[in-house]
Amino acid sequence: MLRNNELRAGELAIDTPPARDAGLIFIGRIRTPWKSREDTPRQGRHDGPVCRLEIFEPWVAALKGVEFHRNLEVIYWLHQSRRDLVLQSPKHNNLTRGTFSLRSPQRPNPIGTSIVTLVGIEGNTVLVRGLDCLDETPLLDLKPDRCEFTPLAQQNPNDPE
Ligand code: SAM
Repeated sequence: MLRNNELRAGELAIDTPPARDAGLIFIGRIRTPWKSREDTPRQGRHDGPVCRLEIFEPWVAALKGVEFHRNLEVIYWLHQSRRDLVLQSPKHNNLTRGTFSLRSPQRPNPIGTSIVTLVGIEGNTVLVRGLDCLDETPLLDLKPDRCEFTPLAQQNPNDPE
């Protein structure tokens, strides 16, 4: 059962300070098969289902060149997370740990990241495998995987990084 406000043994929630606006822009939304957190995998798998990154205007032009990369890093806003937990007791064990030692979605700034495999691009939509987020999760950014930044196609040495 997923929790909203209840705390497990050893957990600590704090009064969160007022948010300062970091000026984040949702550049798109992620469409996945998962409608509840219980059904969503804890981490994505590269043999997982194809998910869709729908890019909003005016950001669609920024997809140019994405097709040259096999693996991408997707950065998203885990919008249904609570943000006040500093100590957490993961469901699968009783060891209480600090939020910054976990990849829990509950964190002060609930940013999730996944390395995904590119399947294809259809207009404003990038098809990928390897995600672990709810349907309609807001998309923050998309980058080539740092491990293979060099595009598969011949790179122009004058290209900006
Ligand atoms: N791969 C990312 C990372 O490591 O930064 C996220 C990992 S997090 C453990 C994945 C879990 O977050 C899912 O199993 C689900 O329970 C939860 N989750 C997924 N999408 C969410 C959303 N939009 N809001 C809140 N929780 C979400």
